[in-house]
Amino acid sequence: MQPAPNLSTRTHQQTMNSKTEQRIALISVHGDPAVEIGKEEAGGQNVYVRQVGEALANLGWQVDMFTRKVSAEQQTIVQHSPNCRTIRLEAGAVEFVPRDNLFGNLPEFVDNFLEFQQKNGFVYPLVHTNYWLSSWVGMQLKEMQGSKQVHTYHSLGAVKYNTVDTIPLIASTRLAVEKQVLETAERIVATSPQEKEHMRSLVSTKGNIDIIPCGTNITQFGRIDRQAARTELGIDPEAKLVLYVGRFDPRKGIETLVRAVGESQLRGSQNLHLMIGGGSRPGQSDGIERDRIENIVAELGMSDMTTFPGRISQDVLPYYYAAADVCVVPSHYEPFGLVAIEAMASRTPVVASDVGGLQFTVVSEETGLLAPPQDVAAFSGAIDRILSSSQWRDKLGEAARKRVETKFSWEGVACELSQLYIQLLNEKAEKTQSEISEQMQKEVMLAS
Ligand code: UDP
Repeated sequence: MQPAPNLSTRTHQQTMNSKTEQRIALISVHGDPAVEIGKEEAGGQNVYVRQVGEALANLGWQVDMFTRKVSAEQQTIVQHSPNCRTIRLEAGAVEFVPRDNLFGNLPEFVDNFLEFQQKNGFVYPLVHTNYWLSSWVGMQLKEMQGSKQVHTYHSLGAVKYNTVDTIPLIASTRLAVEKQVLETAERIVATSPQEKEHMRSLVSTKGNIDIIPCGTNITQFGRIDRQAARTELGIDPEAKLVLYVGRFDPRKGIETLVRAVGESQLRGSQNLHLMIGGGSRPGQSDGIERDRIENIVAELGMSDMTTFPGRISQDVLPYYYAAADVCVVPSHYEPFGLVAIEAMASRTPVVASDVGGLQFTVVSEETGLLAPPQDVAAFSGAIDRILSSSQWRDKLGEAARKRVETKFSWEGVACELSQLYIQLLNEKAEKTQSEISEQMQKEVMLAS
């Protein structure tokens, strides 16, 4: 990870204010930063864009976050704070379209972005794009109007396609776009050293990569203790509570968690409880996975000890994390994994798959435990170890909180991003200056 920013937030703010509130665009075509999180395709990317956007606005940037409109009822512009808003552009039918089917709508998204700029009389000098679909939009803007491009992948096709059974038709396009943006963007933001390594080994050796992690709200998460949270949620103070939070997607490995808890040595002897939070109502796109998981729970005779609270809002989530004895992130692959640091900020140790960004956030034996992905016995053993000693659980939880405080706050992340933007925007000015002096020198030589 890069060293912590050496500018304090306040000094940084002063630098920004003197720059008369520079305007930037965050582009997230399929991940709307203004929607409810935790259902269908809304997850970490939505949270990242929203939190980064708001934190950058606090530093003095004028932040416009562009996404695709998916329903006629949605407001076109949502103002989050004086300097930060979500702007919804039309691209194809105004309805939910799975991300793998969106590529053909992108030219319309670009047209509407240009029209928005024209109507408002400005051009964004820098765009920060999110996920490969938006990276294509950013590359067009770079070519058409010279916008600087910063890109965060959130997920790499080259890694993802190794972990899924069916490769979608769009795969070859996605892989080509992901290579092109790595080689052409002014800067790629990898959220962990592991992600950077994957970019280098699987995508391209060319291009500029900085490591700036994802963050979390360290004030919101970590403000309540375990027993107070349990009282609030009506959870037995003596229960051993294992928590999952996230979308219902086979890649998330919820099946591994259910089977691991099913094999727990503590089952029967202790008041063991499994809570699987996230997902939406039956009939929505994530309902198939939810039904599958509920069937496994029933088959294993675990219905009495398992609850599905559904989507949990960000306001209530701190109670769930605080109430749990352990939070489990059993993903087959995870580029970063916000849930892990949210639980850690809440002083709850994490048992996670030994993959991707989770290898960066969770320090095994210090802030939780890592287990090989899909290894039911390893997950079961790790969960039992933490549940068997409340003293060790608390020690891991305290270390987890410290790790998040020092490395993963949104304010720190936004400061690092802000410095990167300033550097890139100044490079343009410096380049223009040096191009001018070069030109002047040429003219002088020609004249003499
Ligand atoms: N989330 C939420 N409510 C839920 C389930 C998830 O607010 O019911 C949030 C969770 O707090 C986290 C995000 O969704 O901020 C999931 O991000 P993560 O990086 O863990 O996974 P992704 O969804 O990006 O695969």
